[in-house]
Amino acid sequence: MQNAGIAALKLKWRYLAFDVHPQHLSQAIAGAKAMNFIGLNLTVPHKLLAMNMVDALDESARAWGAVNTIRFEAKDDDGAWRPPGEFEGQSSQVRAYGFNTDADAIVRALRDDLGVEPAGAKVLLLGAGGAGRTAALKLASERVAKLFLVNRTRSKAEEVAVEIRKNWPAVALSLDYPDQPVDLMINATSVGLKEGDALPFDPSVFSIDRASAVFDMIYRPAETVLLRCARTAGARVANGLSMLLYQGAKALEIWTGRQPPIEIMRKALERNVYGS
Ligand code: NAP
Repeated sequence: MQNAGIAALKLKWRYLAFDVHPQHLSQAIAGAKAMNFIGLNLTVPHKLLAMNMVDALDESARAWGAVNTIRFEAKDDDGAWRPPGEFEGQSSQVRAYGFNTDADAIVRALRDDLGVEPAGAKVLLLGAGGAGRTAALKLASERVAKLFLVNRTRSKAEEVAVEIRKNWPAVALSLDYPDQPVDLMINATSVGLKEGDALPFDPSVFSIDRASAVFDMIYRPAETVLLRCARTAGARVANGLSMLLYQGAKALEIWTGRQPPIEIMRKALERNVYGS
């Protein structure tokens, strides 16, 4: 996806993947900085750790308490911080600037794929891990009417609830299954990733036909058991591929300052993930 976008923008860059042990994250960021990398993406479990390892935080990272994108910036002769891509020559002063592109990507995918507008919606969100927490905070900030946040380990949902009540006290919040129809159900658990996985919710407590739209963050398999049930029940459905695409496209925009070629990136992603 990123290399297809980079090629379409005619940049002589390469996007590479590295496995980094969490204990070495700080050295990895420092090494990339020293070698004049343009930037980095970070995934689990690095997103929270990186908050304390960058030199400056964009509002997006501060708001969600996680960094998934870093842009390296060099100080020019006038003292302004500029991305290395724009910077000719060497600067001894380089900083790592942390962003988060995950939260906006979730809402963009909900709007584009399902036509769901979070403001005023009733939402059942399954999962309070990294992705579930970000989704919950973002949905609260978008002023959902009611959020049902259900997690296997209730204490983790309670921790997220504390953050929501502090920052968005107007959002009606429950940690139990809804006793009413919802506009949207989101699966932010890892249940559904593996062949033979059960549904990520308890069907004896909540019936799938009470959700008008269902979004599964999982994108492989393309249709999870949850999405198949929801589709059969007549709900609008979408998997997490657009979410993955949009967080990556926004990162490319942050590094380049240019509009990312979304459709080219989508095709490359689909080819890579589904082989088609
Ligand atoms: P995570 O931090 O490890 O959280 C995992 C979540 O799944 C937790 O809420 C966990 O509940 C729950 N869970 C795991 N096994 C379960 C089970 N057997 N029964 C019930 N709940 C279970 O992972 P994450 O990063 O948030 O990722 C969550 C999902 O989102 C994954 O499927 C991942 O692939 C997907 N994702 C997609 C994108 C995208 O771009 N489309 C991006 C990020 C993540 P407990 O708290 O009780 O353990």
